[in-house]
Amino acid sequence: MQHRDLKPIPTDIHERRERLTWLDQHPAWCHPEDPEWPMSSDCFHIRFAYVQPDTQTIDHDDDSKNTRFEAWVEGGPWQRVAEEPWPRDNPYETSKDYRLNSAATDLETALLRFAAKVELHYGDDGIDRGRWPCWWKDDSKGPEACEDAGDGYCKHCGFGMETANN
Ligand SMILES: [Zn+2]
Repeated sequence: MQHRDLKPIPTDIHERRERLTWLDQHPAWCHPEDPEWPMSSDCFHIRFAYVQPDTQTIDHDDDSKNTRFEAWVEGGPWQRVAEEPWPRDNPYETSKDYRLNSAATDLETALLRFAAKVELHYGDDGIDRGRWPCWWKDDSKGPEACEDAGDGYCKHCGFGMETANN
């Protein structure tokens, strides 16, 4: 999801590399009770799809129209899913924070877009900044809860009026 305060992704190759190292080692992926637990590989996932170039969505009726490659990056921090006594060894599961969903026609750009969203929502320390769209906070109003400030972003929550997945 786009947001007014999302930083642009760097173009310099050294900055890009630094950014992805930062992403890989980000504290949001640290297991709450086991710092030795493998980190980023559990928390975010890379998928790919071929989509229709015009709509950037998968055409399920005519697969031959799906000619544009996209790398998708999705994920989220660990969340506790069981109380003690634990029904299993690990009472945590990784979450899917849809605010972080990112896509691009190449994997490096998709990861950099994901990193920018991690920075926006989890800072450098992994603590959720609580930025949610208006309609998420008050779903009785639905998407109409957001109001365009005139620049394509909501004047209240700062999210893009179009909830594009990039
Ligand atoms: Zn809003």
